Amino acid sequence: MASAQSTAETTAQHRAGHGARLTVDLSAVTANWRRLAAHAPQAECGAVVKADAYGCGLAAVAPALWRAGCRTFFVAHLSEGIAARALLPEAAIYVLNGLPPGGAEAFRAHALRPVLGSGEELAEWAAATQGASPAALHVDTGMNRLGLRVEEALALSGDPVIARAGIDLVMSHLVSAEQPDDPLTAHQAEAFARVRAAFPHLRASLANSSGTCLADDARHDLLRPGYCLFGGNPEPGRANPMRPVVRLEATILQVRQVEAGETCGYNARWRAPAPRRLATLSLGYADGYPRSASNSGHALVGGVLCPMLGLISMDLIILDVTHAPEARRGGTATLIGDSLDIDTVGQAAGTIGYEILTGLGSRYVRIAIE
Ligand SMILES: *Cc1c(COP(=O)(O)O)cnc(C)c1O
Repeated sequence: MASAQSTAETTAQHRAGHGARLTVDLSAVTANWRRLAAHAPQAECGAVVKADAYGCGLAAVAPALWRAGCRTFFVAHLSEGIAARALLPEAAIYVLNGLPPGGAEAFRAHALRPVLGSGEELAEWAAATQGASPAALHVDTGMNRLGLRVEEALALSGDPVIARAGIDLVMSHLVSAEQPDDPLTAHQAEAFARVRAAFPHLRASLANSSGTCLADDARHDLLRPGYCLFGGNPEPGRANPMRPVVRLEATILQVRQVEAGETCGYNARWRAPAPRRLATLSLGYADGYPRSASNSGHALVGGVLCPMLGLISMDLIILDVTHAPEARRGGTATLIGDSLDIDTVGQAAGTIGYEILTGLGSRYVRIAIE
């Protein structure tokens, strides 16, 4: 009892020393993963946990997903793969950015599977591993970013290099998955179906978050969702079926009154049209909140939507709390959470929720709840 209390006090003190608080709801991450897994029972549901699990913290997210039943993980870099391996000793971990020159030994040392994206990578991995270590083959069906061209891949059908490189998965990535009516999506699905048919003994993977909403036959054997596990909407324009994962709350440092005609913030980019009540929040662009949301973002105080005023500073944001009577020194403003979901916050900043998530900072207190 006493120790629980002192822990609570330490936590309160610890929190008071920081300007803001990020809460990551791990049970929401696993609920989102289970939802996708249940909706595609014929496919395995993996998880993309690159970029520190989309800013949510790999160390907490990866074991939670494993406990929920996820067995296949994707990261972008070898270094991320090494970090994931330390947390997930038994998982299959694929590294999307492929094999760097001379990297085979490091991949093997950590039992990581490169997603081989060119003939050169394929040959190098085959020579180094002789079929003893699994890997994936990335086929580019329209992104022109990573992966063998479709004709190049088709020409490898029946080629012994596929076995010598231990290929167990063939995959491609959608250009506009969140726009299901985009003809490019249908074109890619068709090209990938041809590739798949050329390698009938390999598992196939095409669907990212939005791709999980495609028809069954376009979802293939393994789903690769990232964004929607962390609360992003896989179908923009429709109600978001995913549970929100992150909540970002900042402390109110001061509340002040300004007269009509006064300005606030750097370069005086906002001028009061009438007397207003302002609150200054203890969080800025150095915490990952985008400066591009200046004069367009919002925060919630006591459930009231309050506009951000003027330019966002490095460590501070000014809010109009004229209509939020609860605003007071030591109070809390919610920057991400409730009606301010990550897609909405991204839009206000002229970007996408993905960038909001991956930009989440490390200066505030981070709390993982389960
Ligand atoms: C990032 C990434 C994903 C996950 O995409 P989401 O849209 O976040 O679900 C899947 N596949 C590849 C190749 C990726 O780079």
